[in-house]
Amino acid sequence: MKQWASDMGATHYTHWFQPLTGGTAEKHDAFVEHDGRGGMIEEFSGKLLIQQEPDASSFPNGGIRNTFEARGYSAWDPTSPAFILGDTLCIPTVFISYTGEALDYKTPLLRSIEALNRAATHVCRYFDGNVNKVHSNLGWEQEYFLVDEGLWAARPDLMLTGRTLMGHESAKNQQLEDHYFGAIPSRVMAFMEDLDTECYKLGIPVKTRHNEVAPNQFELALIFEEVNLANDHNVLLMTIIRKIAHKHCFRVLLHEKPFKGVNGSGKHNNWSMGTDTGVNLLSPGKTPEDNLQFVTFLTNILMAVYKHNGLLKASISSATNAHRLGANEAPPAIISVFLGRQLTEILDKVENSTASDPIQMDGKSGFKMDGIPHIPELLLDNTDRNRTSPFAFTGNRFEFRAVGSAANCAGPMLALQTAVAAQLIEFREAVEKRILNNETKEQAIFAVVKEYIKLSKPIRFDGNGYSEEWKEEAAKRGLDCETSVPLIFDRYLSPSSEEIFTKTGVLSQVELHARTEVSWETYTKKIQIEARVLGDLAMNHIIPVASRYQDMLLDKVIKIKALLTSDCSKKLAENELTVIEKMSCHITEIQDQVVRMISARKVANQIEDERQKAIAYHDTVASLFDTIRYHIDKLELIVDDELWVLPKYRELLFIR
Ligand code: ADP
Ligand code: MG
Repeated sequence: MKQWASDMGATHYTHWFQPLTGGTAEKHDAFVEHDGRGGMIEEFSGKLLIQQEPDASSFPNGGIRNTFEARGYSAWDPTSPAFILGDTLCIPTVFISYTGEALDYKTPLLRSIEALNRAATHVCRYFDGNVNKVHSNLGWEQEYFLVDEGLWAARPDLMLTGRTLMGHESAKNQQLEDHYFGAIPSRVMAFMEDLDTECYKLGIPVKTRHNEVAPNQFELALIFEEVNLANDHNVLLMTIIRKIAHKHCFRVLLHEKPFKGVNGSGKHNNWSMGTDTGVNLLSPGKTPEDNLQFVTFLTNILMAVYKHNGLLKASISSATNAHRLGANEAPPAIISVFLGRQLTEILDKVENSTASDPIQMDGKSGFKMDGIPHIPELLLDNTDRNRTSPFAFTGNRFEFRAVGSAANCAGPMLALQTAVAAQLIEFREAVEKRILNNETKEQAIFAVVKEYIKLSKPIRFDGNGYSEEWKEEAAKRGLDCETSVPLIFDRYLSPSSEEIFTKTGVLSQVELHARTEVSWETYTKKIQIEARVLGDLAMNHIIPVASRYQDMLLDKVIKIKALLTSDCSKKLAENELTVIEKMSCHITEIQDQVVRMISARKVANQIEDERQKAIAYHDTVASLFDTIRYHIDKLELIVDDELWVLPKYRELLFIR
């Protein structure tokens, strides 16, 4: 590996891992050692490849790591190829504490892949004894915004929080629907070409690039890969996209909602399972047996998503993604599954097959099922997408659309895979029990599948997820409708979540609690930073500028009154006075609310408990952002454009 890296010009190496900060971590070491004779030699030992001991004390750990035991271990993940970034050999690794607990995203993701493999392989063997391994695939689609770097640098809110905390909507934004799939501006095209090239150099199989719905919004998608590798590639992409944007004098915004009034960004996670015999378990097959297998996996996924819809929501929730969910542009803060008309009909048929014995033995194929109708290989609904669904079946995979654009895909992937693995284990237990009661294997599978179709019905929803009626209906169905992010995080610790995580070995109780602590802590910090930036900008930028303009108007009115006498001039003075009064209202409102926000923050900061603190930040601090912004945005419409210091939406959002 060292020889290869050296040949490629690398002089350093690093264990590359994904701590709970959501980013990546790397500490570079040169390939040099003492030669024992006072000189140096180039060396890279196997020991250093396999394991290292970075100091874990500066990474979020949720209380796992006692201060006296600051060591953490990084250990090589040979299932993800090493790569070279600049002059550094990057070795993908897991990151665990001295006592063995996961401090990263990769460790539990790998465990969930293994749990799913074990559980799914057993179930596959009901259908094909040759299956020895089941893997899962992820094809991500990454949405992002680009802004001109110079303008970005003039917006402290973008620089420090990744989003605009203020800014009136541009007169034109996405209402003409002229950006989606539109011609890519040449400056952006140059950036995309560069990005594609760099991706290929790193082995990231990117395939699709296009304009997204909002102005300046774009999407990049890769050809799906095994989940662990696809996730590493996404994390890597999020690193290099920044560098390449910078080269083109852009800044890339991965935030879920950088601009109010136009769509935010998500990361669609296309997910499927496949066997080592080359079968996609989410693809309908040609024979009734294949189809029973397909329906078996489908209904188990429905059950898993149904039972753990709260957990899945927690897995995609963050301070930043909260802006997107439920904002009529992205799936609502309720998890449901879209199946499409055709698949729904098939499940209905299976459910209602009333034949006393739907499964008859037949000489050739062993058994024949009247209950499982023929399923066309290419489902028509494949194209009939429901954009409002957070979890949609799209022909041969599920598309988890609620994932945030800045998220590490491992969070939602490991929650989903754990839920499905646990569900498959339960399925097998139910089938085995029936077999012990003298049912045939096929009868047993069919019976359990039928039962699951009935039980999991509340999670199925093909209608408009943006509608108010759905919120009411979902609550009636008992689906999780909580919208407060700190409270959604509670779902990680619900008995059903703890049960599946510990049963499958994906996360121990200690790890689960620690990660949830980190989630609350991160939430608080994000809101805290936004509150500070908003307060500073309001008091140091907005109010001074608005006051100066107000003063100019006051001056003008005094002069008009002193010198001018016509009716028009009198009217003008009246008009300006109205504007001045309006400005007074907006300015004082901003002052009052900022003061309120600061004191709410002080109170919240005193809270020790991370959960309570996050709740306080959500309920008493973040809740003031919209009001403050409203008054700032009103002032933006009044104040002289020349005085207004912050670049406006119309400047930020249109790259020519
Ligand atoms: P759309 O925008 O129409 O949803 P894209 O072509 O942008 O579709 O992206 C679809 C993604 O789904 C790609 O990453 C693709 O590789 C991935 N994909 C296709 N088939 C599968 C599959 N069986 N399992 C997982 N991902 C898949
Ligand atoms: Mg898409």
